[in-house]
Amino acid sequence: MQIYKVGGAVRDRLLGRPVSDVDWLVVGATVEQMQAQGFRPVGADFPVFLHPHTGEEYALARTERKSGRGYGGFTFHASPDVTLEDDLIRRDLTINAMAEDEQGTLYDPYHGKRDLDQRLLRHVSPAFAEDPLRVLRVARFAARYAPLGFKVADETLALMRQIGESGELQALTAERSWKEIERALMESEPQVFIEVLRSCGALEHLMPELAQGADTLAALHQAAQRQQALPVRWACLLRGLEPAAIKALNQRFKAPRECQELAVLVGEFAERADQALAMAPANLLEMLQKFDVYRRPQRFEDFIAACEMAALGPGYPQGEYLRGAAEAARAVDVKPLVEQGLTGQALGEALKGERLKALEAYTAG
Ligand code: ATP
Ligand code: MG
Repeated sequence: MQIYKVGGAVRDRLLGRPVSDVDWLVVGATVEQMQAQGFRPVGADFPVFLHPHTGEEYALARTERKSGRGYGGFTFHASPDVTLEDDLIRRDLTINAMAEDEQGTLYDPYHGKRDLDQRLLRHVSPAFAEDPLRVLRVARFAARYAPLGFKVADETLALMRQIGESGELQALTAERSWKEIERALMESEPQVFIEVLRSCGALEHLMPELAQGADTLAALHQAAQRQQALPVRWACLLRGLEPAAIKALNQRFKAPRECQELAVLVGEFAERADQALAMAPANLLEMLQKFDVYRRPQRFEDFIAACEMAALGPGYPQGEYLRGAAEAARAVDVKPLVEQGLTGQALGEALKGERLKALEAYTAG
């Protein structure tokens, strides 16, 4: 059997980028041979194994054929007669379809190195169209490598457009799509992900709510430059949309609860936050209550961050002001009210009254 390093590890080494995880490809072996050498199978019907010591992934060379619509509609064929070239041709991009043997010799039948040098994201073969997730993957790689000057090849963009028009993008599961969206948002130029999807028409099918207009890409870019967390980036992207559109996007991709919540809150309160310095104490209190700043301080911080990213300016004094207001409301002590014998709803009302007084003092000062 022959063992090759493949995919991202080869690509990133050639780019001089840090390599995080290494994928290995095994040619000329059977499942039984792998198990006899101590490799542990990852799943029952998938020819992928874990190395007994390093835990790294070793996949048997395979070919695959589309056998139905949507994910899962693939049949795999793994056997010792599948060649390195057979395996590499089913991969998405030429820069992801290179292999390296144990001596460090590069195998590059689809000219990934040339495309790396030309800074091109190019599909390997027409089989690209068999998995619509690849449209999102290409956009994600475009976001990641934008600082290095990478572009999507024209013919690949055209193929991505066809895939969008075929309706296959809607057949992707929420889980697969979100994984790509999440990784793309965490790249250094996440707005490029959206721009690429828009430029090939895929955005209209994946996120029609965003395709309409609502230019939030500058805020998203700013959020990445300022190393903001995922929920902040998602909320920046969705800011300015109608509540129904925010809800639709949250649900379509089954975004994590933190992302969903923050996007909804930013949608509802961001404009008020921008006007915070002119807010009446009662409105300020209503907002702090709605955010539950007493028990959810981090969520409020994320909210302020999202508002600040959209402001785009060098500073956002509203942020400091809102933080101060939350502090003032939090500083109200419930103990004296309890000692007065208040309970239940009456206690809640009294506490609110005290917090309002605190905010009146804060806004006056
Ligand atoms: P990353 O640095 O993001 O991990 P990667 O290239 O290693 O990048 P993986 O998702 O780990 O990406 O996949 C490993 C390799 O498997 C890819 O380089 C590519 O060759 C192939 N691959 C993964 N997913 C697909 C897909 N949906 N279609 C075609 N090829 C794929
Ligand atoms: Mg990888």
